[in-house]
Amino acid sequence: MKQIEVKTKTNNYNIIISNNFNSLQEHLSKIGMDHKKICIITDDNVSKLYLDTLCSILSKITDELSYLVIPHGEANKNLDTINIIYKKMIEEKLDRESYIIALGGGVTGDMVGYASATYMRGNNFIQIPTTLLSQVDSSIGGKTGVDFDGYKNIVGAFHQPKLVYINTNTLLTLPKKEISAGMGEIIKHGLIASKEYFTYIRANSSKIMNLDNEIMEQLIYESCVIKSKVVSMDEKEKGVRATLNFGHTIGHAVERLFDFNLLHGECVGLGMVSAAYLSYLLNQIDSSELDDIKACIQSFDLPIKIDKLNELEIYNELYHDKKTKNNELNFILLNGIGSCEIRNDLYKEEIMKAIKYI
Ligand code: NAD
Ligand code: ZN
Repeated sequence: MKQIEVKTKTNNYNIIISNNFNSLQEHLSKIGMDHKKICIITDDNVSKLYLDTLCSILSKITDELSYLVIPHGEANKNLDTINIIYKKMIEEKLDRESYIIALGGGVTGDMVGYASATYMRGNNFIQIPTTLLSQVDSSIGGKTGVDFDGYKNIVGAFHQPKLVYINTNTLLTLPKKEISAGMGEIIKHGLIASKEYFTYIRANSSKIMNLDNEIMEQLIYESCVIKSKVVSMDEKEKGVRATLNFGHTIGHAVERLFDFNLLHGECVGLGMVSAAYLSYLLNQIDSSELDDIKACIQSFDLPIKIDKLNELEIYNELYHDKKTKNNELNFILLNGIGSCEIRNDLYKEEIMKAIKYI
């Protein structure tokens, strides 16, 4: 078991990384959840796998336990589902002292977090992430929200959880494609923050894809350390948190142009190849580093090329990102593997070359 403390201006909380649920009860008690009203919210895939186990653990600390199963998938990450959650919270007479628990992937986590941020102007929530992406990314840092009118995550709030409890064994039931998607964000952490970590990921790709217990625990730990350090320094994305968008400028454009039919991690993989090539063009990484990055992304079954889009289409789409302010494109570029910088001074020709590269 490993533990990380996340410190933000609004609250401090722990991330627990384990390969079982054995210490969950102890950690919930530690933050004062005994005898509180608790509602578990999970989706209709995850409920079949882990809801019973969680209910039996929670019934040991409270008599006031309820649960709600919501439909899975990004298509349901909207205000209609939030309404269902609010109704349940009212029905169960939850108040500011109560807890809601997000059991599932990033879709569930983002929605439960948003419901918790807004219900009675804020109550408590716990993250129990069950996808690789949610374990290393979305459950940490307090970004919550839903999609609206075709815009991803456009309605939301910053609201930190009281605890993040990761059971790496839940990954054993996750489709392989979702493991690859999570690896997109993990590779990103290595590229922007630690050459040593990138080398570790690169060296262990087959063990990772086979979900080797020890390696997964280490991997998730390293990624959570990187993500939590960044969000502790810059909770509301005024500066350094933007480095987590490495690969996302072009990645988001591709994701929208494919109408969200590619997984987010796949688009981030493509975006990272493009951003790495831009870094190479500007002499910030050499050709062997560029090759290494591509090989790493490919070793997790993530695409490094797309053939269905033309480059101008992608370029124009860059300006439709909600993070593009005053028509100024921000790119995160590598400064060698393991280090990066935020740039807004790139020429159209350079960006077009980087888009053509994928
Ligand atoms: P997801 O929540 O849709 O989960 C993917 C699929 O796996 C779903 O069908 C789900 O039912 C299923 N599933 C979940 N856990 C499972 C398990 N253990 N076994 C079998 N099936 C399981 O997707 P995701 O990739 O976890 O999250 C994507 C979402 O996260 C997006 O909406 C994205 O915007 C959001 N996100 C948020 C942040 C943030 O900082 N808040 C960061 C990155 C991504
Ligand atoms: Zn991402």
